[in-house]
Amino acid sequence: QAGMERHAYDVVVIGAGGAGLRAAIAAHDAGARVAVVCKSLLGKAHTVMAEGGIAAAMGNRWPEDNWEVHFRDTMRGGKMLNHWRMAQLHAQQAPERVMELEDWGALFDRTDDGLISQRDFGGHKYARLAHVGDRTGLEMIRTLQQRTVQLGIDVFMELTITDLFKHDGAISGAFGYWRETGRFVLFEAPAVILATGGIGKSFKVTSNSWEYTGDGHALALRAGASLINMEFVQFHPTGMVWPPSVKGLLVTESVRGDGGVLKNSEGTRFMFDYIPEFFRAETADTVEEADAWYDDKKNNRRPPELLPRDEVARAINSEIKAGRGTPHGGIYLDIASRRSPEFIRKRLPSMYHQFKELADVDITAEPMEIGPTCHYVMGGVEVDPDTQESAVAGLYAVGECSGGMHGSNRLGGNSLGDLLVFGKLAGEAATSYATGLGGTRPTVADADVKAASTSAVAPFEIEGGENPYSIQADLQQSMNDLVGIIRTASELEQSLTEIEALKERAKAMTVEGHRQYNPGWHLAIDLRNMLVVSESIAKAALAREESRGGHTRDDFPATDHEVWGHKNLVVSLDEAGTGVVLAEKPLPEMPDELKKYFDEPKKES
Ligand code: FAD
Repeated sequence: QAGMERHAYDVVVIGAGGAGLRAAIAAHDAGARVAVVCKSLLGKAHTVMAEGGIAAAMGNRWPEDNWEVHFRDTMRGGKMLNHWRMAQLHAQQAPERVMELEDWGALFDRTDDGLISQRDFGGHKYARLAHVGDRTGLEMIRTLQQRTVQLGIDVFMELTITDLFKHDGAISGAFGYWRETGRFVLFEAPAVILATGGIGKSFKVTSNSWEYTGDGHALALRAGASLINMEFVQFHPTGMVWPPSVKGLLVTESVRGDGGVLKNSEGTRFMFDYIPEFFRAETADTVEEADAWYDDKKNNRRPPELLPRDEVARAINSEIKAGRGTPHGGIYLDIASRRSPEFIRKRLPSMYHQFKELADVDITAEPMEIGPTCHYVMGGVEVDPDTQESAVAGLYAVGECSGGMHGSNRLGGNSLGDLLVFGKLAGEAATSYATGLGGTRPTVADADVKAASTSAVAPFEIEGGENPYSIQADLQQSMNDLVGIIRTASELEQSLTEIEALKERAKAMTVEGHRQYNPGWHLAIDLRNMLVVSESIAKAALAREESRGGHTRDDFPATDHEVWGHKNLVVSLDEAGTGVVLAEKPLPEMPDELKKYFDEPKKES
C-alpha cells in the first residue's frame, strides 16, 4: 500500500451522469471539497443517451398543468408503490431545475411564443417533457459537464470504484482502480454519493451500455444499506430488433408521442385491445378519437399507444407470442404513413439516422421493427426522501441507482427530472453531513485497503479457471429468459439455482495477462456486482406474487391490492455476505391532503 495514490475530500461522487454531476455541483456550491469519479469518459453516461426529454410541470403548453397533476401521474404510473414524498418533491422542484439548466446554457426547443417547448409522453396527462429534439440527454450532460469543469470540480475519469470503507458504521472512503494502468486509488471521504446508474447489462437484450453493471447497488448492499423495489425492471416497449448487432437499442417514446402507431403483421393497430381498466377513463377507445387527440387534446382522450410503458411492453409481447410479429420477431412502429418526411426528420433526427445507418431503413418511408428491451431499474438504494441518505451514515444514492421515486414503473421523462431534483438535494445533504463532522472524521483502516486490493487481483491468482465472458453471457441469457418481461415461480426458482451455480463458477474465474488496460479483469470485478444484483431481482420477483408495473407474473396475473398494495420488498446482504435476504416494509403513509388526488379516477378525468 505504500505509494498508493490517495486523495482526501469532503464528498466523493461516484458516477458522472446527470445525477452525479448535479450532486457534485450542489456539493461544491454548498462549500464542500468534492470529487467526481466515473468509470468511463466524462460525458459518456446513460444520461447522454436520453432522447425524449425531462418531465417538468412548467405549464408552457398547458396552463392547467401543475405539480399536483404531475405528482398524481407519477404515483399512478408507479401503481402507487412510489415513495409519495419523493414523487411530491420531484413534481414540485423539477420546473425550477429545468429553468436552472437553461440559465446554465442549455438550449431547449421552443414553443411558438418562445417558451421552453414540452412534448407528450406516455402516462403524463399533459405535454410536459422539456426537450431538445430527440437528443435531450446530450444537451443536459453538455450543460452540467461544462458547469462542473467551470467550477473547477476535480474529475477522475476512467476510474472504477470497487469498494467502500466504513469506520464505526459510518462511511470513511472509497477504493478503486484506474482502468488504463490498473493502479489502485484510495479516496478518504466521510460522505460518498452513489450515482452509478442502472443494471441493464445483466440482461441480454438491453438499451443500456457496458457500464451498467449495478455497481452502486452492489456497493451499497455490501456497505450495509438496503435496496428497495428490485423486482421492478422496466422493459421499454420499443427497442430495435434488427440487425442482431444492435438488438435492444432504444427507439424513443417520442416516436409515439409525435404520432407513431403500433401495428402487428396483420396491419391491426392492436393497442385498442389492451386498454386496462385502470386507465380506461382517460384513454381513447376508437381510432377516430385517438387520431383527433393530436390536434385537439381538450376534447379527446389519449391514444392507447401512449399508455405507460409496462402496459405497452406487455401488449407487444402478447402480439409477438400470438404469432402476429414481424419477420425479425418484433412489431411494427409506423410514423411514415402518419407524418411528413420533413416533420419526422426535424422532430426525430437521431431516430432517422439510427435506422438509416444501422438497419438501412428509411423511417420516413417504411415502418420500424421494434420489440421490448430491458431499459431501466425502478429498484435501487433505499434512501431518505429529503436527503437521499441510505441506512449507512455518510452514504447517499441518487438517480437510477436509488429507489423509491418511481414505485413499480417509471414514467418516461421522470428519470431526467429525478437526477436533477435529487442530485441537488443529495449534494447539499452530503455536504452538510460532512462539514458537520468537524475535525473528527471516520478513518480508513489499512487492513480494509489491503483486503480490497487482494480481492480485486484475486482473478489473476487462479489458474485454469473459466473466463468471465462466458459467465457473463450465461447470466445475461438466464436473466433474459427467466427473469424477463413475463415471469413464473418455476422459472424464477430456476434462475436462482442458475445464479447460485454462476456464483460458484465466478469464484474460480481466471483472467490472463496483467493489470494494464485489461477488459477481462474489469469484467471479472463487475461480475460480482451483476450477480448480487441479479439475485436481488430474482428473489424479489419470486416473492411478489402479483403483477404490477414492471413486474408481470404469469401465475399471478392480477394486481393484488389487498395483499401487495401496501408494502414494498427490501433486500439486504445475508449474514455470510454471499447472498441476499428479503424483508417486507409497509408503504409510508401519505398525508390526507395528497390522498385526495386519488379518489375515483372518473371524477378527475
Ligand atoms: P448514468 O447517466 O447512467 O451515469 C452513471 C455514471 O456512473 C457513469 O458516469 C458511469 O461511468 C459511472 N459509474 C458506474 N459504475 C461506476 C463505478 N463502479 N465506478 C465509477 N463510476 C461508475 N430518461 C428520461 O427521463 N428521459 C428520456 O428521454 C430518457 N431516454 C433514455 C434513452 C436511453 C437510450 C436510455 C438508456 C435511457 C433513457 N432514459 C431517459 C433514462 C435515463 O437516461 C437514465 O435513467 C439516467 O440518465 C440515469 O442517470 P444517472 O445519472 O443515474 O446515471
